[in-house]
Amino acid sequence: MKTVLITGAAGFLGSHLCDRFLAEGFHVIGMDNLLTGSLDNIQHLFPKKEFEYYHHDVTKFVHVPGELDYILHFASPASPIDYLKMPIQTLKVGALGTHNLLGLAKAKQARILVASTSEVYGDPLTHPQKEDYWGNVNPVGPRGVYDEAKRFLEAITMAYHNFHGVETRIVRIFNTYGPRMRVNDGRALPAFFSQAIRGEGLTVFGDGSQTRSFCYVDDLVEGIYRLLMSDHHLPVNIGNPDEISIKEFAEEILAIVGNPEATITYKELPKDDPKVRQPDITKARNLLGWEPKISRKDGLKVTLDYFKEVVG
Ligand code: UDP
Repeated sequence: MKTVLITGAAGFLGSHLCDRFLAEGFHVIGMDNLLTGSLDNIQHLFPKKEFEYYHHDVTKFVHVPGELDYILHFASPASPIDYLKMPIQTLKVGALGTHNLLGLAKAKQARILVASTSEVYGDPLTHPQKEDYWGNVNPVGPRGVYDEAKRFLEAITMAYHNFHGVETRIVRIFNTYGPRMRVNDGRALPAFFSQAIRGEGLTVFGDGSQTRSFCYVDDLVEGIYRLLMSDHHLPVNIGNPDEISIKEFAEEILAIVGNPEATITYKELPKDDPKVRQPDITKARNLLGWEPKISRKDGLKVTLDYFKEVVG
């Protein structure tokens, strides 16, 4: 039985990855310090004997006994309001945390996949974004703490690959949604769903003409699994190219929820908010034979059931 360490295991993506690797027959060690994660997301895994949970902050030395075959580094605050509230932790987990996990991968001769982000492209000047675009990031703006932490994560991962010969994989994750997103994480989708269910105004920032491309979590997990098992060490975009403006997205959610009391309210656009975002997934298609399968309509239906349960 192969063993995988998943950091950020109690988070939205981390917990779905734990589910997937357990289903594939792995021994899964989930690690988290619960800064933004919640044990609610992995409570159902505790009875499984193939699952172990370590409460640990990966910015401190990471010790795992025994053999490790794979490491997935998914620990980090990831929503704009989280990294605004926790700028130092965000920088530390991307930098010191990644360093510790690369060191662990080297010591254990494990293959490591690190979670990067479309934020490495910043407010992009090319569209859609391809992996060979270097990005347009403001290092001293409000998003700089996340963007630069993830850019450092990529750089140090490449250094461990080139200098130490560690087997590394880098996934650039675009906007992803699904069950277990935190209701109050401040992102567009949880905000819109909870506002629509409560019959409030959906807070569209700016005029809502900025675009995003939303990927259902199961599609993302499949792409990550395939990338880990591939032999490609350079960054790969994983996301759904189905692009939509935030205003249209709010209208779509209003229609799906169908609460006549809910409306749209416009709020100020946050500084450095990217105007467009859409992954070019040619590389993932060619290298991994991967593309998203779940339409926004189907993904949002499942996600609505989840939000109906958790929105008080
Ligand atoms: N947004 C919005 N209302 C909200 C939250 C976000 O209009 O209540 C906008 C935000 O300004 C951005 C887009 O929706 O243009 C996606 O924001 P999110 O925080 O989900 O993630 P991002 O893609 O910016 O990291």
